[in-house]
Amino acid sequence: MSEPTCDVAIVGAGPAGLGCALALREIGVDRVTILESQTVGASFQRWPQEMRLITPSFHSNPFFATDLNAINPRTSPGDLFGTEHLSGQQYAAYLSAAVDHYELPVREYSPVNNLRSETDGFLLEMDKETVKARFVIWATGEFSFPDMEPFPGAELCRVASQVSSWQDVEGDEFVVIGGYESGMDAAYHLAKRGCKVKVLSSGEPWAIDDPDPSVALSPYTQERLARIARALPDSIEFLGNHEVIEVERDDTGYRALTLDGNAYASAQPPILATGFESGIKRQVASFFEWKKGQPVFSKVDSSTLYPNLFYSGPSLVHRNSKFCFIYKFRARFGVIAQEIGKRLDRDTSKLSDWERRGFLIEDLDCCVDCKCDVNSSVAEEAVP
Ligand SMILES: Cc1cc2nc3c(=O)[nH]c(=O)nc-3n(C[C@H](O)[C@H](O)[C@H](O)COP(=O)(O)OP(=O)(O)OC[C@H]3O[C@@H](n4cnc5c(N)ncnc54)[C@H](O)[C@@H]3O)c2cc1C
Repeated sequence: MSEPTCDVAIVGAGPAGLGCALALREIGVDRVTILESQTVGASFQRWPQEMRLITPSFHSNPFFATDLNAINPRTSPGDLFGTEHLSGQQYAAYLSAAVDHYELPVREYSPVNNLRSETDGFLLEMDKETVKARFVIWATGEFSFPDMEPFPGAELCRVASQVSSWQDVEGDEFVVIGGYESGMDAAYHLAKRGCKVKVLSSGEPWAIDDPDPSVALSPYTQERLARIARALPDSIEFLGNHEVIEVERDDTGYRALTLDGNAYASAQPPILATGFESGIKRQVASFFEWKKGQPVFSKVDSSTLYPNLFYSGPSLVHRNSKFCFIYKFRARFGVIAQEIGKRLDRDTSKLSDWERRGFLIEDLDCCVDCKCDVNSSVAEEAVP
């Protein structure tokens, strides 16, 4: 391969890609290119208008408790907008502000269509150009890849993440398929508008009591559901253990058929909130080793097949724990930057502040050894 055009190519200008770029900047790795198929924070730009970050923002950075949604130790989206739960538009604006402030080298409208490996690096093929890089950080997230085929007839449904505003969706009775955060967000906003909603879910996510916020519904959502239940009782019906196996349509409307033989009719298309796939699976699957349907990551979040190909973002899994929130996957920005810095012979000691502030966590005991769970019945008793 001829001389690389950059040391590091980062694919995706969401929080994962930009956070890694900032960590690399910290140790002087500046031959970096960030390739973004649309615009900075594109996923957040496309959120339904009413949707908010479920993780709260609070500016406590000087006390070493960095805003949970910040992408580096020195910024705070909560402080920028004076709000705890930012909208998608606000969070995208925070990301753009970081790009401007730190002058990050983002190339918008530059989709990477294909990745190729060479003996000493990678070729990233775009529409009219090819970028060469010694290291690649794949950071294309999940939001761009909703799972459109979870069962036959799913194409008849309305995909929750593609709704621009719940106010604009016609109808007053809905079936929502999926009971995790996206499904609950849809149900909440429709109920708040005065609609009747049935939520069909294969499990009962609303009943899960787990210390990991990636498994249980967030306190923000639990609180919203409790509020709506008090204000508009019976507006949301939770049908747990109702796995939808097909959606069909006839002259009268739509029917969601469940495994137990029931059918749930609605005049409007059911709302599909059954989750997302990973950019790794959709775009670069052959570059990773796979075990039980999950990509395998090295201890420094690189591919085990291509050690110079790293991944940053919500599909990261270590010890069966998914790093799907910003505050979780940002703990690895410093790990990736440190590793690339070492391989480029840079002084990585400047990342010590990132380490102190939780942006460089190498000890993965946090994944499996959660001792912070207080039995909720004990906690309830303690409330006067
Ligand atoms: C509905 C929903 C709500 C969520 N709420 C929260 C929350 O409240 N708090 C939280 O911490 N996490 C939340 N998450 C998790 C969420 O995945 C992330 O925190 C965040 O979006 C992940 O950041 P990212 O940079 O990996 O991905 P993204 O923000 O999706 O960024 C990926 C970028 O890559 C670009 N891209 C894709 N393909 C290409 C290509 N081929 N070439 C170039 N660019 C490309 C996309 O345009 C996009 O801009 C939520 C997720 C979903 C789906």
